[in-house]
Parts: sequence; C-alpha cells; structure tokens
Amino acid sequence: MDEFGIIERFFRRQRVRRADVTLGIGDDAAIVRPPAGRELVVTTDVLVNGVHFPEDTDAGDVGYKSLAVNLSDIAAMGASPAWATLGLTLPEADADWLEGFAAGLFEAAEAFDVQLVGGDVTSGPLCIAVQLIGIVDDAGPLTRAGARDGDLVYVSGTLGDAALGLRVVQGMLDVPAADAELFRRRLHRPTPRVALGRALAGLASAAIDISDGLAADLGHLCECSGAGSVVDVADLPLSESYQRILDEVGPGPALSFGDDYELCFTAPPDRARDVDRVGKELGLTLTRVGQITGSAVVWLNNGESFPIGEHGFQHFH
Ligand code: ADP
Ligand code: MG
Repeated sequence: MDEFGIIERFFRRQRVRRADVTLGIGDDAAIVRPPAGRELVVTTDVLVNGVHFPEDTDAGDVGYKSLAVNLSDIAAMGASPAWATLGLTLPEADADWLEGFAAGLFEAAEAFDVQLVGGDVTSGPLCIAVQLIGIVDDAGPLTRAGARDGDLVYVSGTLGDAALGLRVVQGMLDVPAADAELFRRRLHRPTPRVALGRALAGLASAAIDISDGLAADLGHLCECSGAGSVVDVADLPLSESYQRILDEVGPGPALSFGDDYELCFTAPPDRARDVDRVGKELGLTLTRVGQITGSAVVWLNNGESFPIGEHGFQHFH
C-alpha cells in the first residue's frame, strides 16, 4: 500500500461532509468557504509516539486524541471547529493500525462536525500533526489576555485524572478497575469543551485550555493578561476516583501534569450568575478556584502558603 492507497482507503471516505467545503481531499489543496466577514482561528498540535502517548497506545485512542487536543484549542478561543488537515508520518503501512487510527479520528470529527479536507502521508517515526481551523462566532473570540483585577478564576470538569491515567498505564498506580478505567479514558479520550468555549465567548474575560497543567496554564493566562492570581488547591475540582486516593498521591496530578483538556477561564464577579447558568445548561461542573489579583500567581493550600516548584509539563528544560 503506497501513500495514495493509504489516503484513498483510510482518509478519503468519511461521514462529515460540510456544505462550506468547496473542494476536499484529492486536489493539490482544499478550498473552503468561510461565512462572509467572519474571522478564523487556526491551530496545530503535533503528537509524537513515546512523547505524547505511550508507544503501545491503542490506535483508535491516538486518532481520537490527535483531533481532540486541537478541538480543545479551538474551544479555548471560543470558536466553532470546521476544517482539519492531517500530517501523518508512519514507520510502516500497517493496515490494522491505520484502520483503528482513522476510526478514532473520525469519531472525534463526527462528534464536532469537523471535515478532514487534506493532509500528507510520509514514512518516518510515528508522528501525527493535525491542523484545525475554526470560525469565530458573533460574541468571540476568547483569548488569554483579558483577565482583570477582581475577576473570578474558574475551571471546568475535574483535574488530574489524565495524570493518574498515565500512572495506571505505566503500572505505577494500583486502584480498583472502575477508577483505573476512568483515569485511562480521561488520558486517552479527553473531552474538548467546545460548547463551553462558545458559551463563554462574550462572558469570560480570558480563557486557556489546560494541556500542561493548571499551574503552568494559569501562569500563561496571567502573564498574557498582565495579572496575578490567588488559587487554593483545596478548591480544585477532583473526581471521586481521585478523591479516594488524594491522601496517597496529593494535589500534584491536578496541578502539574496537564492532558486534562479542561478550560480555565476568568469572569468578572458580576457575571458569576451567568457562569453558573452556562454550567447548568451544559450539565458541566464549573468550579471557582480563585481570583485575579496582584502581579504573580500565588498558591495556597487551605489558606496556607503552598509553593509549587514544578511548573507543568515542559518538553525542553
Ligand atoms: P501533493 O503531492 O500535492 O502534496 P498528495 O499526493 O500528498 O498531494 O496528497 C493528495 C491529496 O490527498 C491531497 O488533497 C492531500 O491534501 C490529501 N491527503 C494526503 N494525505 C492525507 C491525509 N493523511 N489525510 C487526508 N488527506 C490527505
Ligand atoms: Mg503531499
């Protein structure tokens, strides 16, 4: 099977057919038609075998996650995802692997109405680069830069489960099967908060998706906003599965690992009710974890000073 065989067999056939795709896979480039006068958001994430996912990760999980992490970036911008391209480097044309990978990728694409419109396939170490383009709605976009003194800091869903999932996968954490499965799913099948991001456009003052850990990502948000914040780790939202082992593992997984793909966002206190309403409408827990204040990010644990040494996951030290 050559490059063209791979494209034809695994990537050309797909269920999402967007009306705004004038020309999809098969020509030298794709043509899309954005709604008149709209801004677009563009993002890329690269996933490298053995770095971003363990080498024996299920192909379907790799496919799903390679789009999900990009969807999360579009969510953090408060935009609607639309068109994707896929740069795929493969050590060999393994049909079983490609079958699983495409199934996972298109599962995420269908869930969020994204059409794959092009890409490239080459041989080399397993590496997946997805580019995703989204459309900014009337109320958007959201950026990292708008947080102001006094704004409340929120986090969606729960934090730390993906970090615990990696420990489970690596055989470093022994928990009951149901908890292990929850952690593993949160690692391999993160839920990008696309509907939340869109609902927050025009409501939140700043937003970021949590890919490197709350410590690092809230730091980025504050830096971009020229602000500081105070957050108490005792207020971080943890799953019941995590709470059961909190004494053993501590708050680290919720702070310094990432891969949760929840949103961290800020909103003025007089919009707190609107934030609560959005959470109710989406059936998603939105937890207030702190406040924007000062010029540095200050961490507390039950009101006591709590210095964090490790600032999230970094590739180059
Ligand atoms: P070119 O040589 O002009 O770069 P290719 O032969 O690489 O074109 O690709 C042929 C067509 O298949 C193009 O439309 C390209 O966007 C598409 N394509 C290539 N790889 C992928 C992929 N992994 N997923 C989706 N479309 C792809
Ligand atoms: Mg090419």
